[in-house]
Amino acid sequence: MEFFQSVVDFFGSPLFRLIVNLIYLFGLVLYISIAKWTYSDAKRRGAMAFYWMIVAMLFPVAGWLIYIIVRPPEYLEDVRERELEVRAKEALLASGDLACPACFKPVDKDFLICPSCRRRLKKSCPSCDRALDTSWSICPYCQQIL
Ligand SMILES: [Zn+2]
Ligand SMILES: [Zn+2]
Repeated sequence: MEFFQSVVDFFGSPLFRLIVNLIYLFGLVLYISIAKWTYSDAKRRGAMAFYWMIVAMLFPVAGWLIYIIVRPPEYLEDVRERELEVRAKEALLASGDLACPACFKPVDKDFLICPSCRRRLKKSCPSCDRALDTSWSICPYCQQIL
């Protein structure tokens, strides 16, 4: 009975109350951080941030899990960055300037290799040294069979 008594004493002790209070405090901090995190994450992804924060607060675990599943997959700034990149590539193509097919940096029409990413762009004719398309089988300048 002595063991049982000490267990009862423990549950009535200030230490136990302290532990319980700490657990509550931890839960509260976790709850607030999840709400805050949901709000800022939703905002960065262009979702309805306030609405999702309310959902996460009303249903602390389930609401947050649902948000993780249905949230937009990308951050807004990533979407914007990709759009800018695509537009830059389109502008480059539209301008008629040649671009490296791998890194899209501008290249000259007789570059043999891309100076930025070292991708092979052309081969040089063994006879007249001009830059030729890698798929050509004859040099159109000097008729050298390749
Ligand atoms: Zn390149
Ligand atoms: Zn040639």
